Amino acid sequence: MVEEQLIRRGIRDSRVLRVMGTLPREHFVPEQLQRYAYYDGPLEIGAGQTISQPYMVALMTEALELRGDERVLEIGTGSGYQTAVLASLVYEVYTIERIRDLQEEARKRLTALGLTNVHFRVGDGSLGWSEASPFDRILVTAAVPDLPPPLKQQLKVGGILVAPVGPRWGQILIRWKKHGEPDQGSAEELTDCAFVPLVGRWGYREG
Ligand code: SAH
Repeated sequence: MVEEQLIRRGIRDSRVLRVMGTLPREHFVPEQLQRYAYYDGPLEIGAGQTISQPYMVALMTEALELRGDERVLEIGTGSGYQTAVLASLVYEVYTIERIRDLQEEARKRLTALGLTNVHFRVGDGSLGWSEASPFDRILVTAAVPDLPPPLKQQLKVGGILVAPVGPRWGQILIRWKKHGEPDQGSAEELTDCAFVPLVGRWGYREG
């Protein structure tokens, strides 16, 4: 997976490659899909949600330019795979998921892997996690029509926000760097992508 799907497509961050080469992705997919765990695409994880393609996880993680001492907010825990990648690379992860059952499963998986630097919350992640803010990095793993204002505000100056921005059927992965309070920054387009919609105040309606 690391050679064919990540390095060949240009992922260079050696820490990201090392972590994705050692984390057991099969722990994060449902029993009946075990043999597809390293498949080059997203997989269904139940409740109509998906675990992202390995390449997309690598690209988003690399885009965050992590050094290791960051506090990171993640929106959309899902299977917890991206959460585990982040937790292996940074100081602390705060992760928010809308669907309680998904987050419970993810929490068990991370605990089993001995990743203890993760804080979990069930709720609407587009509102952020103000009590724990400001964050060094924010990663949104569900599609948003625009960058949610609370997330821009809860990012440190100099921080990076990565999110798939655009309509429900297809988005552009955006990297936004904050230059000033409360919400000044500049955006960069990284790639085309297709994520499940964020359902919430700064996302889409259910259905
Ligand atoms: N990063 C995940 C994939 C996430 S799929 C992984 O690696 O497995 C997107 C997730 O965002 C879904 O689990 C969905 O339930 C969740 N989601 C949708 N709207 C949300 C919201 N407003 N707040 C938090 N999570 C949300």
